[in-house]
Amino acid sequence: MRTTDPGDAARIELLLAELRLPAVKQVWASLATQADKEGWPAGRFLAALAEHEIAERARRRLERHLAEARLPPGKTLDTFDFEVVPVVSKAQVMAGDAWLNNGANLLLFGPPGGGKSHLAAALGFALVENGWRVLFTRTTDLVQRLQIARRELALEAAIAKLDKYHLLILDDLAYVTKDQAETSVLFELISARYERKSLLITANQPFGEWGKIFPDQAMTVAVVDRLVHHATIFEMNVESYRRRTALERKRGRGRPPIHATITANA
Ligand code: ADP
Ligand code: MG
Repeated sequence: MRTTDPGDAARIELLLAELRLPAVKQVWASLATQADKEGWPAGRFLAALAEHEIAERARRRLERHLAEARLPPGKTLDTFDFEVVPVVSKAQVMAGDAWLNNGANLLLFGPPGGGKSHLAAALGFALVENGWRVLFTRTTDLVQRLQIARRELALEAAIAKLDKYHLLILDDLAYVTKDQAETSVLFELISARYERKSLLITANQPFGEWGKIFPDQAMTVAVVDRLVHHATIFEMNVESYRRRTALERKRGRGRPPIHATITANA
């Protein structure tokens, strides 16, 4: 049986490092031993190495994209109960991600606890797994960052930097404060992404209450106009999931509900 010459082995390690093929560098020696032992044709050995490098790159890329997305943990489509949100069907949510190609938007409205953030994060997670780049952020946090950039005369660059994300998830848009609104960085961001890069926005208040998020009415109208031009809107007007599950837990604690009612009335 032929084996790799030690001199060659040392050279190979250096060459692979130079070529930036870390995954190949890790496995080539053991694969070479196996190939020598089993008498693989050279082509098969090379293909196995290349496949390994590509698979490792994909795995590392996914890991990077998940880390940069800053998604809240544990919020996935699997753990989202679609039954309680009749306006949103799982089929609709899973219908595909072509909308990201032309910068269309998704808007989730509804009262607190209705699952907006959960659904937004779950969608973000699924999209990252499909190869898209996503950033999940509280709207006020991002506005703050952009305001700092504006002060440093670097707003345009900061917004351009966000272009690497196919989807920007702005959670709780309606929580932007009056003094944050005055600098209009949010307007700049939304205008810059219009018809190019997607936004997913959650808000307690639909458009009627958006006057305080932007400096003046003309700007508010302009923003709403851009956002809805290519958008899907889910009005998740459901009871708070938190309250519902808390109540169910209480009821489930052994006592029949009728007994609980009588006690409550007594
Ligand atoms: P919102 O952002 O609309 O205020 P959240 O998404 O934060 O609501 O939901 C509140 C809590 O209830 C979270 O822990 C979330 O995971 C859970 N929740 C809400 N809706 C659902 C649902 N349909 N299925 C499973 N969990 C849900
Ligand atoms: Mg929320």
